[in-house]
Amino acid sequence: MQTEEESLPPALYVVGTPIGNRAELSPRAAAILSRVDVIACEDTRHTRRILPEDTDAPLIPCHEHNENTVAPALAERVARGERVALVTDAGMPGISDPGFRAVRACRARGLAVTPVSGPCALVDALAVSGLPTDAFLFLGFLPPKTAARRRIFTEHADAPYTLVFYESTHRILKALADIEETLGKERCVCVARELTKRHETVVTAPVAAAREAVARGSQKGEFVVLVAKKDYVL
Ligand code: SAM
Repeated sequence: MQTEEESLPPALYVVGTPIGNRAELSPRAAAILSRVDVIACEDTRHTRRILPEDTDAPLIPCHEHNENTVAPALAERVARGERVALVTDAGMPGISDPGFRAVRACRARGLAVTPVSGPCALVDALAVSGLPTDAFLFLGFLPPKTAARRRIFTEHADAPYTLVFYESTHRILKALADIEETLGKERCVCVARELTKRHETVVTAPVAAAREAVARGSQKGEFVVLVAKKDYVL
């Protein structure tokens, strides 16, 4: 059997890209991106900046507004024998990002889909949080409205696993206030900001203290929030 270095077979390559630190594009990801026939990406200008210099594959847009129509076309390319890479602006495609529909379209036709492992903000945050990692529930982005967010926290109040969600710069303090309101001041959380970047900050503390720490610092950037199971003490 030929190795990947000798011959890159037709497939949809789901390629993880850095969530901050550019050095985290893996050698395998770089090798595959420089050898595929086409690269589907969210923002072509952003993707061009992280591509290895020897990449000459055309970039085609695949984002939340067109993935429904692009997905069958990507599957058709793989069926014709092309090597198609799928990337997003950061992290693993399909994780709070486009990708699911393209993967589904290929799988529905029995075509090869291969992961090219890379960073993922939720996994990085869990790994450094100091909160239990044996079982967790990833909730993606929470709803923008306070009442809907609070309902989610209340529903999972007694869950025996760590909750993980993505949060925006605009809502981080509100989300922490909602956790405090619904789960109590002592509930342990981790707020992981700007992971792998210059201003990386990770605060693991009871939510009231974590909220104060976040309020004192900068709320700019990207956040992952984790909520420990009930009665967990640091
Ligand atoms: N596909 C990505 C992944 O694998 O993590 C997630 C993409 S999602 C559109 C972007 C969100 O992920 C951000 O709003 C933030 O909540 C989280 N995120 C991405 N990069 C991050 C980082 N460097 N530090 C903290 N959170 C990050």
